[in-house]
Amino acid sequence: MEDRTISTQKRPEEVAVDAALRPKYLADMIGQDQLRNNLEILLEAAKLRTEALDHILLYGPPGLGKTSMAHVLANEMGVNMKITAGPAIERAGDLAAILTNLRKGDILFIDEVHRLGKVVEEILYPAMEDFALDIVIGKGPSARSIRLKLPRFTVIGATTRLALLTAPLRSRFGAVYRFDFYDQPALEEIVRRAASLLKVEITDDGAQEIARRARGTPRVALRLLRRVRDYAQVRADGKITASVAEDALDLLEVDQQGLDELDRKLLRAIIEKYDGGPVGLETIAASLSEDSGTIMDVVEPYLLQLGYLDRTPRGRVATRLAYQHLGVAWTGETTAPVQQPGLWDESDE
Ligand code: ADP
Repeated sequence: MEDRTISTQKRPEEVAVDAALRPKYLADMIGQDQLRNNLEILLEAAKLRTEALDHILLYGPPGLGKTSMAHVLANEMGVNMKITAGPAIERAGDLAAILTNLRKGDILFIDEVHRLGKVVEEILYPAMEDFALDIVIGKGPSARSIRLKLPRFTVIGATTRLALLTAPLRSRFGAVYRFDFYDQPALEEIVRRAASLLKVEITDDGAQEIARRARGTPRVALRLLRRVRDYAQVRADGKITASVAEDALDLLEVDQQGLDELDRKLLRAIIEKYDGGPVGLETIAASLSEDSGTIMDVVEPYLLQLGYLDRTPRGRVATRLAYQHLGVAWTGETTAPVQQPGLWDESDE
């Protein structure tokens, strides 16, 4: 999984490059128009009232811009942002230390917010609601609790799994927004913008070719751009044209729809081993020797979006389109239901 060119997961070596390409202001954020409009209003209102932003929850598959949006909001508000992640805050004391260092208006970005521990979450509730930190001093019968006042701050939580968030935590977020996969024109623009920042020459159809295979995900688009740039420099004259992009992406085994070996293996396993399904997620994961969470987060959302896979109460089913894509004769008697684009949400889990 680590070696997947098209994995939507973050890679440590990409952090520096990512920072350079990351949109700074709302106007640099391409696509996600509805979400951007909503956030624009939220921002303007907070600025007008000179208040901290309401707590915001961003959810959707990895690589779609949740972290970038948090940075944009901090820049637009002109405040500091402290970045952490659910699994990184192990003890209540860790969170208390972070909270007591925040200044008025600051943003606390919590990635993978669904992975916060129960004890930590309970500290966060009053912090988000009343801007207060309850500290217990002493032990046993003499223990007493004191309440520290915190400045008004904003939590921006990000998650790929809205369904795993506890109801009390979810209810503390005043605004909840979902990120969808990007459409082709938006991805093309993201590729062209990044190419210009990286000073790579690219033709419009070169950008189109990369965008088409980027599985609706900016992180993948940028990664493909970097690989194609390498190819262009080594095998061509450095300029990315459609044919250079096509050759480079074929070499990486990223197919016309942006599927790679793992996507195809998953579909093939359902079709060949389980007769097209339904088959349970854990069974598929075991047969591919992959972690089921990773499959659910980074493989399935795009296959669902393309309508190649369907999630039913009895398990995953490969659709007629998946058979077609793999060139396997369709054996089902009826047309399998096809998922409409954009139907990625927590109810799928
Ligand atoms: P997430 O937090 O959802 O996993 P990130 O915010 O880390 O995703 O985005 C991944 C990469 O994609 C970043 O390098 C960022 O520069 C780029 N990116 C994401 N959304 C956009 C966008 N709307 N416009 C331009 N670049 C974007």
